[in-house]
Amino acid sequence: MVLKVLVVGGGGREHAIAAALAKNPDVQVHGVMARRNPGIARLAAEIGLLSETDTAGVVGWARSHGIDRAIIGPEAPLDAGVVDALEVAGIPTAGPRYAAARLETDKAFCRDLMHTHGIQGCPLYRVFRDPADAVPFIREYGGDLAVKPAGLTGGKGVRIMGEQVDREGAIAYVKTLRGPVVLEERLIGEEFTLQAFVDGTRLVFMPLVQDHKRAFEGDAGPNTGGMGSYSMPDHALPFVTENDQAEARAIMAEAVAAIRHQGTPFHGVLYGQFMNTATGPRVIEFNARFGDPEAMNVLPVLASDFSEILCCITEGSLPSRVEWEPLATVCKYLVPEGYPEAPVSNQPLEPGDTGDALVYYGSVGEKDGRLTTLTSRTLAVVGRGPDLATAEAIAEAAAASVRGRVRHRRDIGTSALLSKRVAHMGALR
Ligand code: AMP
Repeated sequence: MVLKVLVVGGGGREHAIAAALAKNPDVQVHGVMARRNPGIARLAAEIGLLSETDTAGVVGWARSHGIDRAIIGPEAPLDAGVVDALEVAGIPTAGPRYAAARLETDKAFCRDLMHTHGIQGCPLYRVFRDPADAVPFIREYGGDLAVKPAGLTGGKGVRIMGEQVDREGAIAYVKTLRGPVVLEERLIGEEFTLQAFVDGTRLVFMPLVQDHKRAFEGDAGPNTGGMGSYSMPDHALPFVTENDQAEARAIMAEAVAAIRHQGTPFHGVLYGQFMNTATGPRVIEFNARFGDPEAMNVLPVLASDFSEILCCITEGSLPSRVEWEPLATVCKYLVPEGYPEAPVSNQPLEPGDTGDALVYYGSVGEKDGRLTTLTSRTLAVVGRGPDLATAEAIAEAAAASVRGRVRHRRDIGTSALLSKRVAHMGALR
Protein backbone atom coordinates (compact mmCIF):
# COMPACT_ATOMS: atom_id res chain seq x y z
CA MET A 1 0.00 0.00 0.00
CA VAL A 2 1.31 3.42 -0.95
CA LEU A 3 1.37 6.06 1.77
CA LYS A 4 0.86 9.58 0.44
CA VAL A 5 2.73 12.06 2.61
CA LEU A 6 2.40 15.81 2.19
CA VAL A 7 5.40 17.97 3.07
CA VAL A 8 4.42 21.59 3.76
CA GLY A 9 7.20 24.09 3.01
CA GLY A 10 9.74 24.72 0.29
CA GLY A 11 13.24 25.22 1.72
CA GLY A 12 16.35 23.16 2.39
CA ARG A 13 14.84 21.60 5.51
CA GLU A 14 11.77 20.46 3.58
CA HIS A 15 13.97 19.08 0.79
CA ALA A 16 15.78 16.99 3.45
CA ILE A 17 12.42 15.85 4.88
CA ALA A 18 11.20 14.87 1.41
CA ALA A 19 14.45 13.00 0.71
CA ALA A 20 14.20 11.08 4.00
CA LEU A 21 10.61 10.07 3.19
CA ALA A 22 11.43 9.11 -0.39
CA LYS A 23 13.92 6.47 0.82
CA ASN A 24 10.91 4.24 1.43
CA PRO A 25 9.58 3.02 -1.95
CA ASP A 26 6.10 2.67 -0.47
CA VAL A 27 5.93 6.40 0.28
CA GLN A 28 4.72 8.88 -2.31
CA VAL A 29 5.90 12.38 -1.45
CA HIS A 30 3.73 15.40 -2.21
CA GLY A 31 4.60 19.01 -1.49
CA VAL A 32 2.93 22.37 -1.07
CA MET A 33 5.11 25.44 -1.07
CA ALA A 34 4.89 29.10 -1.98
CA ARG A 35 7.59 28.85 -4.66
CA ARG A 36 8.71 25.80 -6.60
CA ASN A 37 11.74 24.12 -5.00
CA PRO A 38 13.49 22.24 -7.82
CA GLY A 39 14.89 19.66 -5.40
CA ILE A 40 11.53 18.77 -3.86
CA ALA A 41 9.85 18.90 -7.25
CA ARG A 42 12.21 16.18 -8.49
CA LEU A 43 11.37 13.88 -5.58
CA ALA A 44 7.64 14.51 -5.38
CA ALA A 45 4.80 12.85 -7.24
CA GLU A 46 3.16 16.25 -7.37
CA ILE A 47 3.63 19.71 -5.89
CA GLY A 48 1.14 22.49 -5.28
CA LEU A 49 2.21 26.11 -5.42
CA LEU A 50 0.33 28.02 -2.78
CA SER A 51 1.02 29.99 0.37
CA GLU A 52 2.02 27.68 3.21
CA THR A 53 -0.15 29.71 5.59
CA ASP A 54 -3.25 29.51 3.37
CA THR A 55 -4.98 27.07 5.71
CA ALA A 56 -8.03 26.39 3.55
CA GLY A 57 -5.85 26.13 0.44
CA VAL A 58 -3.48 23.57 1.98
CA VAL A 59 -6.37 21.46 3.30
CA GLY A 60 -8.17 21.61 -0.04
CA TRP A 61 -5.04 20.56 -1.91
CA ALA A 62 -4.39 17.70 0.52
CA ARG A 63 -7.97 16.44 0.23
CA SER A 64 -8.06 16.55 -3.53
CA HIS A 65 -4.79 14.61 -3.72
CA GLY A 66 -5.84 11.90 -1.28
CA ILE A 67 -3.10 12.69 1.24
CA ASP A 68 -2.77 10.17 4.12
CA ARG A 69 -0.35 12.05 6.42
CA ALA A 70 1.30 15.45 6.52
CA ILE A 71 4.39 16.99 8.03
CA ILE A 72 4.97 20.71 8.50
CA GLY A 73 8.47 22.12 7.86
CA PRO A 74 8.41 25.81 8.82
CA GLU A 75 6.87 27.64 11.78
CA ALA A 76 4.52 30.01 9.94
CA PRO A 77 1.93 27.31 9.03
CA LEU A 78 1.93 26.11 12.66
CA ASP A 79 1.10 29.65 13.74
CA ALA A 80 -1.61 29.85 11.06
CA GLY A 81 -3.36 26.74 12.42
CA VAL A 82 -2.66 24.53 9.39
CA VAL A 83 -2.23 21.43 11.59
CA ASP A 84 -5.57 21.95 13.34
CA ALA A 85 -7.31 22.31 9.98
CA LEU A 86 -5.62 19.25 8.43
CA GLU A 87 -6.59 17.12 11.43
CA VAL A 88 -10.20 18.33 11.32
CA ALA A 89 -10.12 17.17 7.69
CA GLY A 90 -8.99 13.73 8.90
CA ILE A 91 -5.33 14.02 7.89
CA PRO A 92 -3.04 13.15 10.83
CA THR A 93 -0.14 15.60 10.85
CA ALA A 94 3.33 15.50 12.36
CA GLY A 95 3.46 19.00 13.76
CA PRO A 96 1.84 20.53 16.82
CA ARG A 97 -1.55 22.16 16.71
CA TYR A 98 -1.70 25.93 17.21
CA ALA A 99 -2.05 25.75 20.99
CA ALA A 100 1.04 23.53 21.45
CA ALA A 101 3.09 25.36 18.81
CA ARG A 102 2.92 28.43 21.09
CA LEU A 103 6.02 26.96 22.72
CA GLU A 104 7.73 28.52 19.70
CA THR A 105 5.33 31.11 18.36
CA ASP A 106 4.87 33.00 21.65
CA LYS A 107 8.06 33.49 23.65
CA ALA A 108 6.12 34.97 26.59
CA PHE A 109 3.90 31.86 26.73
CA CYS A 110 6.99 29.63 26.62
CA ARG A 111 8.75 31.40 29.48
CA ASP A 112 5.60 31.58 31.59
CA LEU A 113 4.98 27.84 31.04
CA MET A 114 8.53 27.02 32.12
CA HIS A 115 8.26 29.29 35.12
CA THR A 116 4.81 28.05 36.23
CA HIS A 117 5.88 24.42 36.03
CA GLY A 118 9.24 25.05 37.69
CA ILE A 119 11.13 23.73 34.67
CA GLN A 120 14.90 23.96 34.99
CA GLY A 121 16.94 25.95 32.50
CA CYS A 122 14.70 29.02 32.27
CA PRO A 123 16.76 32.25 32.32
CA LEU A 124 15.61 35.20 34.44
CA TYR A 125 13.03 37.01 32.33
CA ARG A 126 10.28 39.63 32.34
CA VAL A 127 7.34 40.01 29.97
CA PHE A 128 6.08 43.50 29.05
CA ARG A 129 2.73 43.66 27.27
CA ASP A 130 3.55 47.22 26.20
CA PRO A 131 7.15 47.73 24.97
CA ALA A 132 7.17 51.28 26.43
CA ASP A 133 7.02 49.74 29.93
CA ALA A 134 10.26 47.86 29.22
CA VAL A 135 12.27 51.09 28.86
CA PRO A 136 12.74 51.92 32.58
CA PHE A 137 13.56 48.26 33.29
CA ILE A 138 16.31 48.22 30.66
CA ARG A 139 17.66 51.51 31.97
CA GLU A 140 17.89 50.28 35.55
CA TYR A 141 18.87 46.61 35.11
CA GLY A 142 22.39 45.88 36.36
CA GLY A 143 23.57 43.58 33.57
CA ASP A 144 23.17 42.79 29.90
CA LEU A 145 19.80 41.73 28.50
CA ALA A 146 18.38 39.96 25.48
CA VAL A 147 15.47 41.91 23.96
CA LYS A 148 12.94 39.71 22.13
CA PRO A 149 9.60 40.43 20.47
CA ALA A 150 7.27 37.66 21.77
CA GLY A 151 5.98 36.65 18.33
CA LEU A 152 7.64 35.10 15.29
CA THR A 153 10.33 37.21 13.62
CA GLY A 154 12.03 34.67 11.36
CA GLY A 155 15.00 34.48 13.77
CA LYS A 156 15.84 38.14 13.21
CA GLY A 157 14.07 39.90 16.08
CA VAL A 158 16.49 39.36 18.96
CA ARG A 159 19.00 42.03 20.10
CA ILE A 160 21.67 41.17 22.64
CA MET A 161 23.16 43.91 24.81
CA GLY A 162 26.94 43.78 24.84
CA GLU A 163 26.87 42.04 21.47
CA GLN A 164 24.76 43.87 18.89
CA VAL A 165 23.60 46.86 20.94
CA ASP A 166 24.55 48.87 24.05
CA ARG A 167 21.99 49.91 26.69
CA GLU A 168 20.84 52.96 24.72
CA GLY A 169 20.64 50.83 21.57
CA ALA A 170 18.46 48.30 23.39
CA ILE A 171 16.16 51.10 24.56
CA ALA A 172 15.97 52.58 21.07
CA TYR A 173 15.21 49.10 19.68
CA VAL A 174 12.47 48.27 22.17
CA LYS A 175 10.77 51.58 21.32
CA THR A 176 10.43 50.42 17.70
CA LEU A 177 8.57 47.23 18.70
CA ARG A 178 4.83 46.61 18.69
CA GLY A 179 3.19 43.96 20.85
CA PRO A 180 4.55 42.05 23.85
CA VAL A 181 8.29 41.97 24.53
CA VAL A 182 10.37 39.51 26.55
CA LEU A 183 13.53 40.68 28.30
CA GLU A 184 15.95 38.01 29.49
CA GLU A 185 19.29 37.90 31.24
CA ARG A 186 22.07 37.58 28.66
CA LEU A 187 23.42 34.04 28.74
CA ILE A 188 27.11 33.32 28.15
CA GLY A 189 28.32 29.96 26.89
CA GLU A 190 28.28 27.64 23.88
CA GLU A 191 25.08 27.00 21.96
CA PHE A 192 23.85 23.56 20.96
CA THR A 193 20.68 22.11 19.47
CA LEU A 194 18.80 19.08 20.75
CA GLN A 195 15.82 17.88 18.73
CA ALA A 196 13.30 15.18 19.63
CA PHE A 197 10.43 13.35 17.99
CA VAL A 198 7.43 13.79 20.29
CA ASP A 199 4.18 11.77 20.24
CA GLY A 200 2.29 13.78 22.84
CA THR A 201 3.93 11.95 25.73
CA ARG A 202 7.17 10.27 24.76
CA LEU A 203 10.33 11.94 23.40
CA VAL A 204 12.87 10.19 21.20
CA PHE A 205 16.03 12.29 21.02
CA MET A 206 18.15 12.97 17.96
CA PRO A 207 21.91 13.58 17.74
CA LEU A 208 23.20 16.89 19.15
CA VAL A 209 24.02 19.54 16.54
CA GLN A 210 25.80 22.88 16.60
CA ASP A 211 24.57 25.57 14.22
CA HIS A 212 26.46 28.74 13.18
CA LYS A 213 24.25 31.80 12.99
CA ARG A 214 26.83 34.46 12.13
CA ALA A 215 27.37 35.33 8.48
CA PHE A 216 31.18 35.22 8.36
CA GLU A 217 34.10 33.03 9.33
CA GLY A 218 35.22 33.25 12.95
CA ASP A 219 31.60 34.00 13.98
CA ALA A 220 31.79 37.58 12.71
CA GLY A 221 29.04 39.62 11.10
CA PRO A 222 25.27 39.74 11.46
CA ASN A 223 22.99 36.86 12.47
CA THR A 224 21.53 34.79 9.65
CA GLY A 225 19.04 31.94 9.33
CA GLY A 226 22.06 29.64 9.97
CA MET A 227 25.18 29.25 7.79
CA GLY A 228 25.81 25.58 8.54
CA SER A 229 26.08 22.99 11.26
CA TYR A 230 27.79 19.78 12.29
CA SER A 231 27.21 16.66 14.36
CA MET A 232 29.58 13.99 15.67
CA PRO A 233 29.69 10.20 15.10
CA ASP A 234 28.82 9.60 18.78
CA HIS A 235 25.85 12.00 18.49
CA ALA A 236 27.24 14.14 21.35
CA LEU A 237 29.38 17.32 21.34
CA PRO A 238 32.77 17.63 23.05
CA PHE A 239 31.77 20.74 25.03
CA VAL A 240 28.53 19.20 26.30
CA THR A 241 29.05 16.70 29.14
CA GLU A 242 26.82 13.65 29.65
CA ASN A 243 25.39 15.49 32.59
CA ASP A 244 24.61 18.58 30.47
CA GLN A 245 22.94 16.39 27.87
CA ALA A 246 20.87 14.59 30.52
CA GLU A 247 19.76 17.97 31.91
CA ALA A 248 18.79 19.23 28.45
CA ARG A 249 16.78 16.06 27.85
CA ALA A 250 15.02 16.40 31.20
CA ILE A 251 14.15 20.04 30.44
CA MET A 252 12.56 19.07 27.12
CA ALA A 253 10.68 16.15 28.68
CA GLU A 254 9.31 18.49 31.36
CA ALA A 255 8.19 20.98 28.71
CA VAL A 256 6.36 18.19 26.86
CA ALA A 257 4.72 17.06 30.12
CA ALA A 258 3.71 20.66 30.95
CA ILE A 259 2.07 21.27 27.59
CA ARG A 260 0.25 17.94 27.83
CA HIS A 261 -0.90 18.94 31.30
CA GLN A 262 -2.50 22.04 29.80
CA GLY A 263 -4.64 19.79 27.62
CA THR A 264 -2.77 20.60 24.40
CA PRO A 265 -0.34 17.69 23.81
CA PHE A 266 2.60 18.27 21.48
CA HIS A 267 2.91 15.94 18.47
CA GLY A 268 5.82 16.74 16.18
CA VAL A 269 9.47 17.67 16.40
CA LEU A 270 10.52 19.68 19.43
CA TYR A 271 13.70 21.66 18.93
CA GLY A 272 15.58 22.88 21.97
CA GLN A 273 18.17 25.59 21.46
CA PHE A 274 20.39 25.64 24.52
CA MET A 275 23.17 27.81 25.84
CA ASN A 276 25.60 25.63 27.75
CA THR A 277 26.64 27.99 30.54
CA ALA A 278 29.12 27.73 33.41
CA THR A 279 26.29 26.29 35.50
CA GLY A 280 24.64 24.01 32.93
CA PRO A 281 22.28 24.25 29.96
CA ARG A 282 19.72 27.07 29.69
CA VAL A 283 16.91 27.25 27.14
CA ILE A 284 17.43 30.02 24.57
CA GLU A 285 14.24 28.97 22.84
CA PHE A 286 12.06 26.09 21.79
CA ASN A 287 11.01 25.59 18.21
CA ALA A 288 8.05 23.45 17.24
CA ARG A 289 9.67 21.87 14.15
CA PHE A 290 13.05 20.77 12.76
CA GLY A 291 15.79 23.37 12.57
CA ASP A 292 17.05 24.54 9.20
CA PRO A 293 19.97 23.54 8.85
CA GLU A 294 19.82 21.03 11.74
CA ALA A 295 17.33 18.78 9.88
CA MET A 296 20.08 18.24 7.32
CA ASN A 297 22.43 16.84 9.98
CA VAL A 298 20.06 14.38 11.58
CA LEU A 299 17.84 13.08 8.75
CA PRO A 300 20.76 11.85 6.59
CA VAL A 301 21.96 9.63 9.48
CA LEU A 302 18.53 8.33 10.44
CA ALA A 303 18.62 4.56 9.90
CA SER A 304 14.99 3.88 10.90
CA ASP A 305 12.14 4.47 8.47
CA PHE A 306 11.10 8.12 8.69
CA SER A 307 7.54 7.61 7.44
CA GLU A 308 6.94 5.12 10.24
CA ILE A 309 8.21 7.63 12.79
CA LEU A 310 5.77 10.21 11.41
CA CYS A 311 2.89 7.80 11.86
CA CYS A 312 4.01 7.05 15.43
CA ILE A 313 4.23 10.80 16.20
CA THR A 314 0.61 11.32 15.16
CA GLU A 315 -0.69 8.12 16.80
CA GLY A 316 1.14 8.49 20.13
CA SER A 317 3.07 5.27 19.60
CA LEU A 318 6.76 6.19 19.30
CA PRO A 319 9.13 3.35 20.16
CA SER A 320 11.59 4.02 22.97
CA ARG A 321 14.39 4.52 20.47
CA VAL A 322 15.12 4.87 16.79
CA GLU A 323 18.34 3.92 15.00
CA TRP A 324 21.01 6.39 13.85
CA GLU A 325 24.13 5.71 11.83
CA PRO A 326 27.35 6.37 13.78
CA LEU A 327 28.50 9.09 11.35
CA ALA A 328 29.63 12.69 11.63
CA THR A 329 27.86 15.26 9.43
CA VAL A 330 28.84 18.71 8.22
CA CYS A 331 26.32 20.98 6.52
CA LYS A 332 27.42 24.16 4.74
CA TYR A 333 24.97 26.64 3.27
CA LEU A 334 25.85 28.52 0.10
CA VAL A 335 24.31 31.98 0.37
CA PRO A 336 24.09 34.87 -2.11
CA GLU A 337 26.90 37.42 -1.97
CA GLY A 338 25.78 40.25 0.31
CA TYR A 339 23.48 37.96 2.35
CA PRO A 340 21.80 38.67 4.75
CA GLU A 341 21.74 42.46 4.40
CA ALA A 342 21.94 43.05 0.64
CA PRO A 343 21.79 39.69 -1.15
CA VAL A 344 22.62 39.68 -4.87
CA SER A 345 19.79 37.68 -6.45
CA ASN A 346 18.75 36.29 -9.84
CA GLN A 347 22.30 35.17 -10.63
CA PRO A 348 23.09 31.94 -12.48
CA LEU A 349 23.99 28.99 -10.28
CA GLU A 350 25.81 25.77 -11.19
CA PRO A 351 26.22 23.11 -8.50
CA GLY A 352 29.40 21.61 -10.08
CA ASP A 353 30.92 18.32 -8.90
CA THR A 354 29.40 17.76 -5.49
CA GLY A 355 30.97 14.30 -5.17
CA ASP A 356 29.68 12.28 -2.23
CA ALA A 357 27.91 15.26 -0.67
CA LEU A 358 24.13 15.43 -0.35
CA VAL A 359 22.68 18.57 -1.90
CA TYR A 360 19.53 20.28 -0.64
CA TYR A 361 17.94 23.20 -2.43
CA GLY A 362 16.89 26.25 -0.48
CA SER A 363 15.97 29.53 -2.07
CA VAL A 364 16.67 28.61 -5.69
CA GLY A 365 14.86 29.69 -8.84
CA GLU A 366 14.71 27.81 -12.13
CA LYS A 367 14.40 29.59 -15.47
CA ASP A 368 14.43 27.61 -18.73
CA GLY A 369 16.02 24.66 -16.94
CA ARG A 370 18.78 26.81 -15.41
CA LEU A 371 19.14 27.47 -11.69
CA THR A 372 19.33 30.98 -10.25
CA THR A 373 19.94 32.47 -6.82
CA LEU A 374 17.16 34.26 -4.95
CA THR A 375 17.47 36.45 -1.85
CA SER A 376 17.68 33.81 0.90
CA ARG A 377 20.01 30.83 1.62
CA THR A 378 20.65 29.14 -1.71
CA LEU A 379 21.60 25.51 -1.24
CA ALA A 380 23.11 23.30 1.39
CA VAL A 381 25.73 20.60 0.93
CA VAL A 382 26.11 17.87 3.52
CA GLY A 383 29.10 15.61 4.01
CA ARG A 384 28.91 12.42 6.05
CA GLY A 385 31.82 10.36 7.32
CA PRO A 386 33.19 8.19 10.10
CA ASP A 387 34.79 11.30 11.64
CA LEU A 388 34.27 15.06 11.50
CA ALA A 389 37.33 15.69 9.29
CA THR A 390 36.05 13.33 6.57
CA ALA A 391 32.56 14.84 6.65
CA GLU A 392 34.01 18.36 6.55
CA ALA A 393 36.28 17.59 3.57
CA ILE A 394 33.31 16.20 1.59
CA ALA A 395 31.12 19.21 2.39
CA GLU A 396 33.89 21.73 1.73
CA ALA A 397 34.84 20.24 -1.65
CA ALA A 398 31.19 20.25 -2.70
CA ALA A 399 30.65 23.83 -1.52
CA ALA A 400 33.80 25.02 -3.30
CA SER A 401 32.62 23.40 -6.55
CA VAL A 402 29.46 25.51 -6.73
CA ARG A 403 29.74 28.26 -9.37
CA GLY A 404 27.88 31.54 -9.06
CA ARG A 405 27.76 34.65 -6.94
CA VAL A 406 27.48 32.69 -3.72
CA ARG A 407 29.69 32.24 -0.69
CA HIS A 408 29.91 29.90 2.31
CA ARG A 409 31.75 29.62 5.63
CA ARG A 410 34.82 27.45 5.14
CA ASP A 411 35.39 27.14 8.88
CA ILE A 412 32.23 25.21 9.77
CA GLY A 413 33.08 21.68 10.92
CA THR A 414 36.84 22.26 11.02
CA SER A 415 38.88 21.00 13.96
CA ALA A 416 40.18 24.55 14.52
CA LEU A 417 36.67 25.83 15.15
CA LEU A 418 35.80 22.86 17.33
CA SER A 419 38.91 23.43 19.47
CA LYS A 420 37.87 27.04 19.95
CA ARG A 421 34.45 25.92 21.23
CA VAL A 422 36.00 23.41 23.61
CA ALA A 423 38.49 26.02 24.90
CA HIS A 424 35.69 28.57 25.41
CA MET A 425 33.67 26.07 27.47
CA GLY A 426 36.80 25.10 29.40
CA ALA A 427 37.45 28.76 30.27
CA LEU A 428 33.87 29.16 31.56
CA ARG A 429 33.98 26.14 33.85
P1 AMP B 1 16.36 33.28 18.96
O1 AMP B 1 15.62 34.03 17.89
O2 AMP B 1 15.64 33.22 20.28
O3 AMP B 1 16.89 31.97 18.47
O4 AMP B 1 17.68 34.10 19.25
C1 AMP B 1 18.61 34.38 18.23
C2 AMP B 1 20.00 34.33 18.81
O5 AMP B 1 20.13 35.26 19.88
C3 AMP B 1 20.33 32.98 19.45
O6 AMP B 1 20.86 32.10 18.53
C4 AMP B 1 21.33 33.36 20.51
O7 AMP B 1 22.62 33.40 19.95
C5 AMP B 1 20.93 34.73 20.90
N1 AMP B 1 20.19 34.74 22.18
C6 AMP B 1 18.86 34.59 22.36
N2 AMP B 1 18.53 34.69 23.66
C7 AMP B 1 19.67 34.90 24.33
C8 AMP B 1 20.01 35.12 25.72
N3 AMP B 1 19.09 35.11 26.68
N4 AMP B 1 21.32 35.31 26.02
C9 AMP B 1 22.28 35.33 25.06
N5 AMP B 1 22.02 35.16 23.74
C10 AMP B 1 20.74 34.94 23.39
